[in-house]
Amino acid sequence: MNTKYDLAIIGGGPAGAAAAVYSSRKRLKTILITKDWLGQSNVSEKIENWVGSIAISGFELSQNLEKHAKAYGKDIIDFKDGELAQKIQKKSSGFEISTTKGIYSAKTVLIVSGSSRRKLQAKGADIFEHKGLTYCATCDGPLYADQDVAVIGAGNAGFESAAQLLAYCKTVTLLARSEFKADPGTVEKVLSNPKMRAFNFAVPKEIKGGTFVNSLIYTDTKLGSDIEIPVTGVFIEIGSIPNTDFAKDIVTLDAYKHIVVDARNQRTSTDGIWSAGDVTDGLYHQNNIAAGDAVKAIEDIYSYLHSH
Ligand SMILES: Cc1cc2nc3c(=O)[nH]c(=O)nc-3n(C[C@H](O)[C@H](O)[C@H](O)COP(=O)(O)OP(=O)(O)OC[C@H]3O[C@@H](n4cnc5c(N)ncnc54)[C@H](O)[C@@H]3O)c2cc1C
Repeated sequence: MNTKYDLAIIGGGPAGAAAAVYSSRKRLKTILITKDWLGQSNVSEKIENWVGSIAISGFELSQNLEKHAKAYGKDIIDFKDGELAQKIQKKSSGFEISTTKGIYSAKTVLIVSGSSRRKLQAKGADIFEHKGLTYCATCDGPLYADQDVAVIGAGNAGFESAAQLLAYCKTVTLLARSEFKADPGTVEKVLSNPKMRAFNFAVPKEIKGGTFVNSLIYTDTKLGSDIEIPVTGVFIEIGSIPNTDFAKDIVTLDAYKHIVVDARNQRTSTDGIWSAGDVTDGLYHQNNIAAGDAVKAIEDIYSYLHSH
């Protein structure tokens, strides 16, 4: 069995990086297990609300977070990059975390494993993934220059993706299954572009094509009729699912599989396990919130370790 750590941090997004900075400054013997250091906004071209930076690309933000965590953590944190947590088990004095590469023992655990993209449920969506259907407008958008494309999603991510695509695509059609949920200012700005159109109460039914996508069928739920639109690219922005599979047997989850936490201190239902960021049932999910909540958790973990 390996060293017994004071703390195991699971995740390397904004919450994981903030936790690492605080745990190393508090000299907690820590292990940080993360699949990668790419927080979800890594794909954003420009982030304008990361406090302290007027504007920063998502990729640069991720790199800065990793650099910051490792600058202070290099002597006190064991970084396990490219490793996935698979299970957490309660032991007599702490927890055992099984990963894709090893088993580690820690007195306390902070789960900051964030969320992953929700997949489109429509006929053909799986067949055409990476063949015209994609989950990243920033990464793949330029491949669709001068083409007609669709964006699926009612929220900010959908409208922001549409805004990016308008820079090079011939037309962009946004489909929302409900009312538009993005900020009114963003909706207004995006819809004012003459290359843009958007329909609400439009539910994707089928993605069609040959080798690559060539059309999309959606149901207009107000009219009860199916409509086919010719598009060569379909960009999906329909939210995310919390990465909690490995933790589902040890902490209480809500109906959406978020980890239930006490918002005052980020404690979960299990004594000795904390959680922060997008993986929790916190009402609002943002980079600054993820980082701040992780800091709150570390403060509480530090007090806990010094009183147990
Ligand atoms: C396209 C997009 C744009 C966004 N733009 C903004 C914005 O402009 N401003 C803003 O404030 N917020 C933005 N957000 C939201 C923001 O990205 C999230 O709130 C934030 O990333 C949450 O941070 P987190 O650390 O909780 O989780 P995540 O960023 O999801 O990081 C989770 C980490 O855990 C790791 N991980 C996952 N599962 C495991 C496992 N089993 N074992 C080990 N490691 C694991 C992942 O590799 C990752 O490193 C955006 C989100 C998206 C999707």
